[in-house]
Amino acid sequence: MLRVLFLLALWVFYAFGDAHIFVYHRFGDDRYPSTNISTQKLKEQFDYFKENGYEVIPLSRLVDALKKGEEILDNWVVLTIDDNYHSFYKNGLGVFKEYGYPFSLFVYVKAAEKKYGDYSSWDELREIAKFGSVEFHSYGHAHMSRFSKEELEEDFKKGLELFEKEMGFKPKYFTHPYGEFNEELIEVAKSFGFSALINQNMGAVSSSSNPYDLDRTALGESSNLKEFLNYKYLNAKWIEPSIYPEDGILKEVKAVLSSEVKKAGLYVTGNGWRELEVKDGKVSKDLNLKLNHERVRLILSVGNSISTKILTKD
Ligand SMILES: [Zn+2]
Repeated sequence: MLRVLFLLALWVFYAFGDAHIFVYHRFGDDRYPSTNISTQKLKEQFDYFKENGYEVIPLSRLVDALKKGEEILDNWVVLTIDDNYHSFYKNGLGVFKEYGYPFSLFVYVKAAEKKYGDYSSWDELREIAKFGSVEFHSYGHAHMSRFSKEELEEDFKKGLELFEKEMGFKPKYFTHPYGEFNEELIEVAKSFGFSALINQNMGAVSSSSNPYDLDRTALGESSNLKEFLNYKYLNAKWIEPSIYPEDGILKEVKAVLSSEVKKAGLYVTGNGWRELEVKDGKVSKDLNLKLNHERVRLILSVGNSISTKILTKD
């Protein structure tokens, strides 16, 4: 009996769990090492998925399962590409085709419209749409969390009109430029009818994830894919900090976790990891840490489960 229970527990552990959404930017373009992946490395990552039982599924399948309350499987991987760099069309698309892997490409509309040199044209985007889904990454690729509601609406309206005119369909998903967002951006994006919004906070997607705040992890040349695949979704509600502190001092962190949690880890860019006590599911800690980076990542962790928050200096 015990053995059966143990096997059952093991099966549940492996069968239900946390899917992972990844994002790539440039392919085989070593002018920008921090956002690039060589095609050789890309193939190594694809081989890893293949050899280790991962199933690369379309983003729509994950979002639909989440919205219908269906199981999210641990071996699901969703691949996305931000920014429609020409290098995807030139170097990346062929590898996706070779492996038969679905993808979603998020378009920076102004770059296609104005024919910026480094970006795919509408013609290339229409070609790409034959092999994967093509989605929306804003009109102007601005730091949108600094926009007023009117400015946000203007960007979506302009971008979506051009997108629909050129592509002939409405995009369903949106990714925030620079991974920066606030409540207002989420509300405006929802009002334009998107069925999921995806951030760039390291993490995973479980059945408790919010479809309008899906975690996504960036993959590049030196990423530790194995470690990223082990991350689980941590259901954490961040309370403080909500924005980058004006004086650059992170005074405190406050968050609500599940009541069983007794200890959590906290990572702050430039300040490393520390352990925090959790009381009645609440983390509340005075820190007074000096922030030395314009973009700071905060990670709360409980075992392999993580929740990330990104703060960006205005
Ligand atoms: Zn972008």
